[in-house]
Amino acid sequence: MKLAARLHAVQPSVTLAMSARAAELRQSGTDVFAFGVGEPDFEPPDAVLDAAREAIGKGVSKYTAVTGIAPLKAAICDHARRKKGFSPVPEQVTVTVGAKHALFNLAIALFEPGDEVLIPSPFWVSYPEQVRMMGAEPVIVPTREEDGWRMSGAALAAAVTPRTKALILCTPSNPTGAAYTPAELRALLEVVRAGDYWLIADEIYAELSYDGASIRSVAELAPDLLDRTVIVDGGSTTYAMTGWRIGWAISPRPLAKALDTVQGQSTTNPSAIAQHAALAALTGPQEAISRMRDAFQARRDVMVAELNAVPGVRCRVPEGAFYAFADCRGLYGLPWGEKRIASDEDVAFFLLEKAHVAAVPGGAFGAPGYVRFSYATSEERIRAGVASMRQAVAAARG
Ligand code: PMP
Ligand code: GLU
Repeated sequence: MKLAARLHAVQPSVTLAMSARAAELRQSGTDVFAFGVGEPDFEPPDAVLDAAREAIGKGVSKYTAVTGIAPLKAAICDHARRKKGFSPVPEQVTVTVGAKHALFNLAIALFEPGDEVLIPSPFWVSYPEQVRMMGAEPVIVPTREEDGWRMSGAALAAAVTPRTKALILCTPSNPTGAAYTPAELRALLEVVRAGDYWLIADEIYAELSYDGASIRSVAELAPDLLDRTVIVDGGSTTYAMTGWRIGWAISPRPLAKALDTVQGQSTTNPSAIAQHAALAALTGPQEAISRMRDAFQARRDVMVAELNAVPGVRCRVPEGAFYAFADCRGLYGLPWGEKRIASDEDVAFFLLEKAHVAAVPGGAFGAPGYVRFSYATSEERIRAGVASMRQAVAAARG
């Protein structure tokens, strides 16, 4: 059996693999602490569920326009005006099967062999793999915890070459939770302005920033770059709609037209019912967002404090998203079965086996030595899960 060469360099999604592993363990009767996959445990707002039921009742069961129904595209434009400080038109909007699909469509439309795509690390697992799948080259720009996991303008400038096709920026970040301040973003945009490449801004965690931090869209900060900026967002994180699979891209019209072609030859429209649900999410009551944000902030505080109380684990306070990204190198050397813990992968598998805690090794995000703990679960589960970690570590220390 021979697979296409483009798959040789591509890794499966580690975040999804961890989620599958945890589900397997759960099915075999183990109570697993699910800090692996980043998925809100909340239900979507009532308006979303009602709209979906209503859509089914009304007989919404046919194809829609490839890039989405008109009222949803209008609502996405309105959302951009309210939240992102710019005014796109519906022709710029592509509604997709989740934000991951928006990014994949963009990769198909933009990347080809010979292209370099700048990706600051730690990065979300799918960015480099999607780039590789297109035969293009991900160029990783490392950032350091000491710098708050932020890339400086100078580091970005040093990575740009004539082959640079795009920069993929995610703030607040998965996996670090780090969020650029508007001033820091402006400094990066200054460098982008001096170049000639696409800016793909993954703003899926834009509603999840804590302690009143101001998250501004690159679209608002650099309106002059809108002819080569793409904003990616969706319903998964903001409205806890992961399984509904609705995301979107807002891009300049010629690119939006290309995305229409790509999508028209692949998935066609995202589920019609899910589109009606997403419309209700964007146009219905928005209180759920701040309620979820407050809950996430409280959970973050518990997760970080608890992790820091595990000897050998050190965790920075993230500004946004729902991930704690902890330095676990202090656990290296602990005995584990026949061997000793020697990598972040060992740490993750040790935690799964001995503490029934599912978490994702940092190597998957380009940051070996770290482990990502999602706190999109209740405070009670967070406390119990980290207590279980503490016990496992204490037992290993003997
Ligand atoms: N970008 C980032 C940074 C993510 O963490 C995720 C996963 N929530 C996605 C994109 C994809 O989201 P979706 O579920 O909408 O495909
Ligand atoms: N964004 C989530 C995560 O990183 C969901 C998993 C995925 O889409 O890969 O865990």
